[in-house]
Amino acid sequence: MLVECLHVTCPACHAPTHVLESRRAPDGAAVRRRRECTACGRRFTTFERREPELYVIKRSGERQRFDPGKLRAALHRAAHKRPVSDGDLETIVDRVQAAAEDSGGSLGAERIGELCMADLRELDPGAYLQFAGTLPSVRPEIAAGENAGSVRPVGKDAGLPRKAASRRGTYE
Ligand SMILES: [Zn+2]
Repeated sequence: MLVECLHVTCPACHAPTHVLESRRAPDGAAVRRRRECTACGRRFTTFERREPELYVIKRSGERQRFDPGKLRAALHRAAHKRPVSDGDLETIVDRVQAAAEDSGGSLGAERIGELCMADLRELDPGAYLQFAGTLPSVRPEIAAGENAGSVRPVGKDAGLPRKAASRRGTYE
């Protein structure tokens, strides 16, 4: 179902506009509308595209509508003052959405956390740890990696022991 954008205002003078022509895209997923400003007569085109309905499966089993804005905000908090660009974070949000679409429209909350962490780890270790600390499901794992790195099995998270080593270095 496409939702009508009834209140598109003129980009020039912000007056209401009316639709001159509507045309559905060949794939049926978008509608292109030619609009005209009722005040200044400016003409422009809008595209309405349906957002796919994606869901997050919480650990409790609860199904929740996936909110890209919420994920974006969490990533921004983690990357605060870190050398990570908005574009990098947007790429992560896109990847999570694509993964949810690929797996039939829903993704486990833990899987979303894993995808974000895998990408953040590549981008910046500080943002990665910051983000990991906000996830209740991975906090114990990270805490174990931080405090008892040598006890952890080697292999899966080869990055952590190396980081711990370099951090020790700065204090010595
Ligand atoms: Zn106008």
